[in-house]
Amino acid sequence: MEDLGSDRRSFLKNVGGGLIAAGAVSAVAQDAAAAGHEAVTQTQETQAAITPQKALQMLKDGNARFVAGKPLKRDYLAQVKATSAGQFPFAAIVGCIDSRESATLTFDQGIGDVFAARIAGNFVNDDLLGSLEFACAAAGAKLILVVGHSECGAIKGACDDVVLGNLTQTLANLKPAVAAVSGFDSDRSSANAKFVQAVAEKNVELTVARIKQRSAILRDMAEKGDIGIEGAMYDVHTGKVMFM
Ligand SMILES: [Zn+2]
Repeated sequence: MEDLGSDRRSFLKNVGGGLIAAGAVSAVAQDAAAAGHEAVTQTQETQAAITPQKALQMLKDGNARFVAGKPLKRDYLAQVKATSAGQFPFAAIVGCIDSRESATLTFDQGIGDVFAARIAGNFVNDDLLGSLEFACAAAGAKLILVVGHSECGAIKGACDDVVLGNLTQTLANLKPAVAAVSGFDSDRSSANAKFVQAVAEKNVELTVARIKQRSAILRDMAEKGDIGIEGAMYDVHTGKVMFM
């Protein structure tokens, strides 16, 4: 369980309104957490006490619980009520739309814990960057985690130059990762699992870099140590996340 300490500074902006009501739940939630393996519902106070490093550790711990089959206990409806007046998520996760990789589940998080941006191939464009700026600069998230995954259909499609309606343009966002992976000259198609995995990992790396390059707000926050921007890969065979 997280040590929430005595740090009661609150520097967050009022995003959702009604913050006092949401904060009042925190003591109850923390007591419950201390008594057993029950999840804490994030409040203004708990969010303010989380550093980028701690946020990363919380996601690592959450995935370890998921893989071990030992998720925290959660009363989702109680969390709905506790977060109704305001949300204080500690992280923003950029993931693929893949049905096997739901960040909230695979990091063992509940209602109000994480922002989840999902798009085929887990890349960012201007609209995704705007969403992440909202998550961090307006709503107080401490970490952006870009999560790619094994066996990614979007990555396979980009490797194979798939043409299909609007998807063609979506996959164009992944082509830089395909081009940036050298070698594999005998087979640079989706039939080569190692090539597909290498491209997926490169895509995460490029997405992390693109966030820093194309968002002055997020870059500045990262340079000041207010947020972390990290990458990871999810394994659809094991449920494990490898942090890069
Ligand atoms: Zn995918």
